[in-house]
Amino acid sequence: MKQKHILLPPDQQVKSWYNVVADLPGGLAPPLDPATGQPMGPDKMGAIFPMGLLEQEMSQQRWIDIPREILEIWQIWRPSPLIRATFLEEALGTKAKIYYKYEGVSPSGSHKTNSAVAQAYYNKQEGVKRLATETGAGQWGCALSFAAHKFGLDCKVYMVRVSYDQKPYRKVMMNTYGAEIVASPSPDTPTGREVLAKTPDTPGSLGIAISEALEDTVSRDDTKYALGSVLNHVCLHQTVIGLEAKQQLALVGDYPDVVIGCCGGGSNFAGLAAPFVPDKLEGKNIRLLGVEPASCPTLTKGSFAYDFGDLSQRTPLLYMYTLGHDFIPPGIHAGGLRYHGMAPVISALMREKLMEATALQQLECFEAGTLFARTEGIIPAPESCHAVRAAIIEATREPDKPQTILFNLSGHGLLDLASYEKYFAGELVNYEMPDEAIAEATKNLPKL
Ligand SMILES: *Cc1c(COP(=O)(O)O)cnc(C)c1O
Repeated sequence: MKQKHILLPPDQQVKSWYNVVADLPGGLAPPLDPATGQPMGPDKMGAIFPMGLLEQEMSQQRWIDIPREILEIWQIWRPSPLIRATFLEEALGTKAKIYYKYEGVSPSGSHKTNSAVAQAYYNKQEGVKRLATETGAGQWGCALSFAAHKFGLDCKVYMVRVSYDQKPYRKVMMNTYGAEIVASPSPDTPTGREVLAKTPDTPGSLGIAISEALEDTVSRDDTKYALGSVLNHVCLHQTVIGLEAKQQLALVGDYPDVVIGCCGGGSNFAGLAAPFVPDKLEGKNIRLLGVEPASCPTLTKGSFAYDFGDLSQRTPLLYMYTLGHDFIPPGIHAGGLRYHGMAPVISALMREKLMEATALQQLECFEAGTLFARTEGIIPAPESCHAVRAAIIEATREPDKPQTILFNLSGHGLLDLASYEKYFAGELVNYEMPDEAIAEATKNLPKL
């Protein structure tokens, strides 16, 4: 019998994060203050983030210790299993070995809980009482609601309208963890009211929701802001995924030829792939493949430029692949992949050609997710279906080639069943962003 589950013994628990910034050949361009065009230091961002996280955001240190309090909570679901997709391999008739790192075992059902617990911890350390955040598909909102409650913090979540309507049980889940939640755009903030006045039936976007959470944060003394992806410290927290996976593969004497993850803001892909970057820099023949939706093709069709992280231009300027801060992607069902920008670390890896990217359509991804569910049993989140589809493409391109594929199953889809229902009813369509729409959206990139 082929070994299916690869468990990591407790004495091999990952105790440090790996900071890929230390190894980026060209370094990382600093965030800029939009007012002055000058690099923005931690002092100015102290109003929205705690110092502990800002230090990580700016850090060049290769290894960073994980505090005991975080490891303790992580023990609920970490180390997460590495599973060989033997039944999928058989169904595909491939000689490739396909492994997936399963992050759906976390309490909120995705990798996001890893960073949520870390962020709540550092906020608590510095006396913060309340967190404000945005959520796309609802995964981050659930993760932060849980983590905030573990550290006795209040939490308010601005949830992108289209997801709020598509995934009503996400709201119940956040309420269960004790958080307050509103659909974004909401009447609770100036940006929300402005967007609602202009476009009352907008599906919303992460860019709008981020603006609202930031406005909430700066309007109160007791509140800080938390972001579920994109930033360096978030990608850093997620490296536990790749560090564990590497050790788990080593236990069975394996090593990946290709590492795959879906890319929304880039954090689950960074978490799985970054720990393999040093090997690649040393000449190891390994491919790192990010997968995005064709409707929001940041890495494959975006511009590499300084841009805002939100619609209202409140964030520092980040140097990243972007479709423009006022890009509103269509309401596809992988809500977590509807973001106009990409993590600066992922953008840098892309530009240094240390990784590659591909864009896929939502129908082929749901088809892959369904095959995965029928073989391996787990119903993947619509975001994760993008990684599943890419893994299938890799495994079947040359089915006789013995190769090892590792992908991140970033979350389960048990709260996304309404999306599967629409898919089975034939109500989902593909969207390809026309080049003109992308050119239009990137016209408003800030001029420096
Ligand atoms: C949020 C989310 C993503 C996308 O975000 P990244 O920061 O790119 O990882 C992917 N998968 C799931 C399950 C998510 O919840």
